[in-house]
Amino acid sequence: MSRKSRNRKRYVCCPACGEVVFKGTVAESEHICHKCGATIGAWVKDGVVVVYDPIDESREESTAHRLSTYLDALERDKDKV
Ligand SMILES: [Zn+2]
Repeated sequence: MSRKSRNRKRYVCCPACGEVVFKGTVAESEHICHKCGATIGAWVKDGVVVVYDPIDESREESTAHRLSTYLDALERDKDKV
């Protein structure tokens, strides 16, 4: 067992093109891929790396999708009556 591994640098890659967007041991930030322009959220702590899409949360599409799901549910209820 080596203690060195705890502080080893982590690499966060762009999920779209594979470009390295972050190198380091701690991160909680958003990065813009300089190769393809994708926004990547990176969370790095204690050797754990989490990559997420920060745009996904607020994207209009997802709101539209939620709305259509809601409308579908309403339609289904109508059939029941
Ligand atoms: Zn990229």
